[in-house]
Amino acid sequence: MTFNWEKNVRTVEPYTPGEQPTDKNIIKLNTNENPYGPSDEIKKVIASLDDDYLRRYPDFAARDLVKELAAFHKVSDDMVFVGVGSDDVLAMCFMTFFNSDKPIIFPDITYSFYPVWAEMLRIPYKTIPLMDDFTIDTKSFVSEGKESGGVVIANPNAPTSILLGKDKIKEIIESSKDSVVIVDEAYIDFAEDGSSMLDLVNDYDNLIVVRTYSKSRSLAGLRIGYAVSNPKMIKYLNDVKYSYNSYTMNYPSIVIGSAVIKDNDYFKEVISKVKATREWFTDELKELGFKVLPSSTNFVFASPQDGRAKEIFEAAKKKGIFFRYFNLPKIDDYLRITIGVDDDMKTVISFLKDFLTT
Ligand code: PMP
Repeated sequence: MTFNWEKNVRTVEPYTPGEQPTDKNIIKLNTNENPYGPSDEIKKVIASLDDDYLRRYPDFAARDLVKELAAFHKVSDDMVFVGVGSDDVLAMCFMTFFNSDKPIIFPDITYSFYPVWAEMLRIPYKTIPLMDDFTIDTKSFVSEGKESGGVVIANPNAPTSILLGKDKIKEIIESSKDSVVIVDEAYIDFAEDGSSMLDLVNDYDNLIVVRTYSKSRSLAGLRIGYAVSNPKMIKYLNDVKYSYNSYTMNYPSIVIGSAVIKDNDYFKEVISKVKATREWFTDELKELGFKVLPSSTNFVFASPQDGRAKEIFEAAKKKGIFFRYFNLPKIDDYLRITIGVDDDMKTVISFLKDFLTT
């Protein structure tokens, strides 16, 4: 039965996040979390949090966190916006900057939350097909960008794991002068040094770079994301955010998030461990006949020789190994596998060997 009030409901097809099983024994390689926890220094900070951090409202502007991030990225405080994970930051960006009748553009295969926010906020959008090798079609972005209501690019892209060169992103930004370009750098710390667009935010009036603590900084559970842009764009974002919900960043996240930024040596150590495992794991997959896309992230996107991705996904799950599988056109032959600790990745390889030989 349908009620009359349902005609007024804002109906949406929600985003489906990866499964979060409660069983700790699972080898969980389905949501690109970091397999290494925060450092001992950060555990000390967590242990030092007293009742005040729960009893009191946090600073609504999260100034300590903003200050640390601004210092780390060598920008002024008014160039940083923080939010509850980069999902929150991205949603705020969509709400603030995409308010035109012209469609925003993003690749057809990318972070599947983008079309969901567009649908929910009634933002027209158009997807630009990836090239056959799964790279972003810069030419089409350049020509479509001129007339678009905004551009969103995940770089490296997900779930493909492929990095787009800085010069190509520059071309896209320059062709989309009349609209905002969001570069979602959720995985950039796992890419080659110097790949980020963050050092160029002062060069453009329409560029915003979004980052997260969930992957490289080992803190998906705390939900911290941020954006860096010119002061004008950050002011527009904050105006929308404070008009919606002012106290979004919880107190412990502000304190822990500020401390983590200073913990740079540990951060670098974790990144290099993940990258080393990624290279080893990629070689092993190739030995097993998988096609593996060149990854600049903490996951690989790989296709087994005989197109049995779904079967492998299901069989692995039965053995307590979780991958991500997307039953979608063009990528239904692929598995997205997060890079875990070495022992877990060795278990994955021996599972795959068994599977492929029986
Ligand atoms: N962007 C991309 C490309 C992602 O894959 C994710 C993780 N699902 C996010 C943003 C959001 O991450 P978080 O909200 O944990 O910062």
